[in-house]
Amino acid sequence: MPYEPQSMRENVCKVIIVGGGIAGLTAAAWLSKKGKKVLLIEKNEDCGGLVSSITRNGFHYEAGVRALLNAGIIFPMLHELDIELEVVKSSVSVGIEKEILHIEDKNSLYKYKDLLIRLYPESKADIEKLIKIIRRIMKDVDVLYGIDNPVIKDLWRDKRFIFRKLLPWLPKFLLTLRKIDKLQMPVEDYLKAIVKDPSLRDIITQHFFRKTPSFFALSYFSLYLEYFYPKGGVGKLAEAMEHRLRELGGEIKTGTVINRVLAGEHTIMDQNNVAYHYESLIWAADLKTLYKITDTRRLSERIRLKFEAKKKMMLAGRGGDSVYSLYLEVDEPLESFKQIAHGHFFYTPSKQGLGEVHTEELNKLLRNWQNDNKKQVFVWLGKLTRLNTYEISIPGLKNPDLSPKGKTGLIISFLSDYDLFEKVYESGWYTEFISELEKLVLSVLSDSVFPMLKDKVLNQFSFTPLSIKNRVSSSEGAITGWSFQEPIPVINQMARSARSVLTPIPSIFQAGQWVYSPSGVPMSILTGKLAADKVLKKS
Ligand SMILES: Cc1cc2nc3c(=O)[nH]c(=O)nc-3n(C[C@H](O)[C@H](O)[C@H](O)COP(=O)(O)OP(=O)(O)OC[C@H]3O[C@@H](n4cnc5c(N)ncnc54)[C@H](O)[C@@H]3O)c2cc1C
Repeated sequence: MPYEPQSMRENVCKVIIVGGGIAGLTAAAWLSKKGKKVLLIEKNEDCGGLVSSITRNGFHYEAGVRALLNAGIIFPMLHELDIELEVVKSSVSVGIEKEILHIEDKNSLYKYKDLLIRLYPESKADIEKLIKIIRRIMKDVDVLYGIDNPVIKDLWRDKRFIFRKLLPWLPKFLLTLRKIDKLQMPVEDYLKAIVKDPSLRDIITQHFFRKTPSFFALSYFSLYLEYFYPKGGVGKLAEAMEHRLRELGGEIKTGTVINRVLAGEHTIMDQNNVAYHYESLIWAADLKTLYKITDTRRLSERIRLKFEAKKKMMLAGRGGDSVYSLYLEVDEPLESFKQIAHGHFFYTPSKQGLGEVHTEELNKLLRNWQNDNKKQVFVWLGKLTRLNTYEISIPGLKNPDLSPKGKTGLIISFLSDYDLFEKVYESGWYTEFISELEKLVLSVLSDSVFPMLKDKVLNQFSFTPLSIKNRVSSSEGAITGWSFQEPIPVINQMARSARSVLTPIPSIFQAGQWVYSPSGVPMSILTGKLAADKVLKKS
């Protein structure tokens, strides 16, 4: 067992963490490891939040994120928590119409260039310029994630890391941060100066969240090479964290929704009016909820004013893009799919691009909404499904044990707008809408890349932005925190990330996808660790 100073073990106090997603699990496990008595409270019957897996009829699927990126964070965190997780590579393919590229190494970027030139020969010069930019960004990504994130490392235990890795890396890292700051503009706008053909611009950007910062979007080619998949499914990561937390003596209470925070009394209340008292609270769930349900009476005037100002900003913000997913059980062996693509596949059936379909046309539909405009919406849905980019995950191709013999499970998804699904629901034709959407997606994909889907689907079900909101209570069904289209009410500069976990109330910290932007699994883990460190420092 590694050496721990005696004082850390004696200094036991009660910390409550709300939200058993990956951020809350990280914070709770880390604090438990450091000898704190923690209680983790989760609304669902199982932990994991958007890092979870489901099994149906022997088919294994992801309910949230499909594969993981280390980003210098996940593996070092597992190491610090003494967790062993068996993983495999999650290889990526990219396809447009009949062109499909399997991304194997950094040189695949040049094959991607050739693929784009074959599809858009008149844009050859623009494509060459773009590829040079992506190549430069890939070098910056190498620096960014070049060493284990020092926030995660227990630096006192690893002095060699400080002298051999951290100090030589630091100047390069600071230079890279400056480059990233210069590439914050939305990728759609940035590309206008480089690529003239709007269809080509769409094809490059339409599977990113709207207005994604350029660095983040254009770094994806590097990230495609880094995806990994826990054996048994993504949910195994959360399971492993939960198991370790219990081993370390942490307490977990599931099926419990916190709906009031009485900050002046250091107390939270659940749906049954049960009160829980804390010395420190880490909120690792939706932030709008925290600000809505917190009662600031009995706090100082100064803190209350600061809290009210923050609350106004939070409530004016908007959750980011959501996702629609179609889950399929297919009576066709894995081998048939393996011949076409890897288990993580970004596919666009038409090189035309979405144009205004998912922006202006959708906004117009929503602005002029009438409960009986079903026909108009279905026509629009036809265009959306024909022109969109799909993220297709086939768990069995990553880990063959995850599909019944001779059969294949698929998760087909694309970015979706929460408001559309909500309006359809309120208009009373949600079931019909979902059934039309499923039919359209199946028809587009069986007419293009997966002809074997015709007549081979045994079962299917959908998971929509409304399902995501119901499952994890995330504002607007967002999957990675705040929308890039509105002012972001939290920290979004890496150099300031340590402050992202502070709230105006000294005994309350925040963690997870809502507290730093852009976010995702690695940043949720990082902020979970940062929040835990703040609690440790305070006590
Ligand atoms: C389809 C999909 C694809 C994705 N792809 C990627 C990707 O490629 N890369 C990437 O990095 N990320 C990706 N993500 C996002 C990533 O999964 C999330 O950003 C991350 O898991 C968020 O973790 P979290 O712990 O911050 O929040 P969550 O997972 O939302 O956890 C919050 C937890 O709090 C609980 N909770 C909420 N309110 C309360 C309450 N009042 N009381 C008690 N408990 C409460 C919820 O039930 C939930 O378990 C994807 C997500 C989805 C859905």
